[in-house]
Order: sequence, then C-alpha cells, then structure tokens
Amino acid sequence: MRSVNAFGGDLQREATEWRRYLHENPELDFQEHNTARFVTEKLASFGINHIETGIAETGIVALIQGEGGDGPTIGLRADMDALPIIEASGKPWSSKSPGKMHACGHDGHTAMLLGAAKYLASTRNFKGSVALIFQPAEEPEFPTGGFKMVQEGIMDRFGISQVFGMHSWPGLEVGKFAICHGSIMGSQDDFDIVVKGRGGHAAHPYRTIDPVVIAAQIILGLQTLVSRKTDPLESLVISVTKLSAAQAYNVIPDQVEIAGTVRTLASGLRDFAEQEILASAQGIARGFGADIEFRYLRSVPATFNHAEGTDLAIQAARSLVGSASVNDKMKPSIGAEDFAYMLEARPGAYIFLGNGPTAECHNPAFDFDDEALPYGIGYWVSLVETVLGT
Ligand SMILES: [Zn+2]
Ligand SMILES: [Zn+2]
Repeated sequence: MRSVNAFGGDLQREATEWRRYLHENPELDFQEHNTARFVTEKLASFGINHIETGIAETGIVALIQGEGGDGPTIGLRADMDALPIIEASGKPWSSKSPGKMHACGHDGHTAMLLGAAKYLASTRNFKGSVALIFQPAEEPEFPTGGFKMVQEGIMDRFGISQVFGMHSWPGLEVGKFAICHGSIMGSQDDFDIVVKGRGGHAAHPYRTIDPVVIAAQIILGLQTLVSRKTDPLESLVISVTKLSAAQAYNVIPDQVEIAGTVRTLASGLRDFAEQEILASAQGIARGFGADIEFRYLRSVPATFNHAEGTDLAIQAARSLVGSASVNDKMKPSIGAEDFAYMLEARPGAYIFLGNGPTAECHNPAFDFDDEALPYGIGYWVSLVETVLGT
C-alpha cells in the first residue's frame, strides 16, 4: 500500500497553483490554445521529450518511457475544456473570462494528470510506457474531442493497449473513489420529429390537419415506450425537450417540431429507441392523416468499463486509500461522457474521484476541491505501477 502523502506537500502545492491558473483562464471546446500551451510547457519542463500537439486541434499526447524494460503502453486521459457558464463560485481564482467557466472539474483533471506526469517522469519505476492524453472538447455536441482524437489514430500511433479515465464527483467524500464494472455512464442520442399537417385559421380547425394536437399525442405516446415497452430492469430515458409551433393565437401551423434526447446504459436500447420512436410517432400521425419527418442522431455511446481494466483500477485505488474508501459497485450515472469513444477503441476503465459536498457539476457555484489533487495524482501513479509493475 502506498500512502497518499507521497503526493501531498510540494507536489500538491504546485498542482494547486496549476489548477487555479487553469480555473482563472478557462477556454471552451476546441479553443484550448492557452491551456494546451501551458500543459506542453509543463510537460517539457518535467523532462518529457516525446510530446505531440495539435491533435484534434488542441489535443496533446505525451509519452513517458519507464525504466523497467519493455512493456505495453497505457493511456491516461484528462479533459481540458470549460463550459459557457457565468461563474458564481465566489472563489478568489474565479474565471477571468466572463461566460466561460471550469464547472466540470476539467481544470482539476488537467492539473492531476500534470502532477502524475511530473512524478512519473522523475521516478520511471515501471515497464513499457505511459501515454498522457490531454483532450479538448469533452462537453460539446458530437463530434467531441475524444471522438476526434480516436479518429486521428492516437491509439495505433502511440501503441496504446489500454486506456483509463477519471472524473471528479461532487457528493462523494474527498479521498474516496467510486466505480463499477460494465456501463458506468449512459449513451446520448438526440432526435427530431417534424409533424407535417395542414395549417389554417384557428377558428376553422375542421378544415386543417392540426399538427399541434397530433404533436401532443405523440409526446404522450413516447412516454409509454419506457413505461410499457422497456424491460423495467434496463435503463432507458426518453425526454422531449424542444417544441415549436406557430407564433400566433389565431393560426394553426402547417407543422410542429418536436425534439428530445435518449439516454441508456445498454447499447441495444439505442436501436430499440430509434425504431420505436419512429413507429410510434409515425403511427399516431398517420392515424390523423398527417405524416412525420424523423431524424435520429447518434451521439456519445455508453461509457463501458471492461472487466480487467476495472479490476486494475479498483486495485490501484485500494492500494492508495484502502478498501473501505473505494466503492466498486457504484450506481451508474445516465449522463454521457465522451471518454466512451476511447473505451470503444481500447479496453480500460473510468473512475470517479470524490470532490466532497460541493455544488453539482455544471452548476455556476461548482469548484474543484484542491484537497482531492493528491488522491487523483496518487491514483494515476498507483495505476501505472499496478498495470506496468516491474
Ligand atoms: Zn461536464
Ligand atoms: Zn466533465
């Protein structure tokens, strides 16, 4: 067992400085130029000389070779992007760019991977190599930074055989970890339904095919796909989130647009949702003499923790903080995470790191807890020494 104290002291103080600098200087998706420059300079200052920049615009992959002989290369990933939120944390290191904010802890993720890089570059007590992956644009709509880095071939190019991710988790005590086997985060797909009726004067609805009433039936119909057609032991969410019709009191419009999102932990339910939303909406519309246009947009897949990688992640976390501080059977979250693309490309695992009783992620009051830095840095180091132990 390795003590977390090895990652406190000077290393924690330095990582805290980096974290607060990044927090003060947030950049949105694919615009992380200053962040990438900062990360690259730090990596070079640690004596890391294999650094590739400009991957998926602002992404970086850097390699540290161990001194324990030949072995595989494992990828450790941090995300660097901020969110378009006006900060209300009240912290002295609040965002200097109004309307941009590190509200998801990516400042902490970047600082922790830098801290691990500094430590690993000086000790090199492992075989094979570590690929440090700093990705842009985790937050936006498809195509995200993780997807693009995989598309640009980082897994093959750097010979990465396993890949690991970590995210800060409000509500879980600092110093604790949570993880589960299988899907740990959900998939995200979005859909658009255009109900095409026949508009007219609102005083004469009998001369129209009213798409507003049809849309109302469709929205209610979609509720039954989860409650009546999905196995209650499986997870599926279908939420209608956008609705637009005519903008006048006295007009029945030609068409109504409905849009929404589908989240699930089981990849097979994505096909099910696509087919059933179409069938239900089309059936209802045709029953009224109308028709629909339908688009189903596949976005992020479920984040799937592979068996071996998850066991290694649990072992690494336990050797740092002890068994009792690692919940290896956490309830998955149905939110989406674009690290899923990396876990589609290579086996590995994604773990949550306690951030204490703070505001939720994406809340204007959120802030990464710097007390969590040594735990995150320690986890990365422990993981490398577990997977690539000499
Ligand atoms: Zn986020
Ligand atoms: Zn995040």
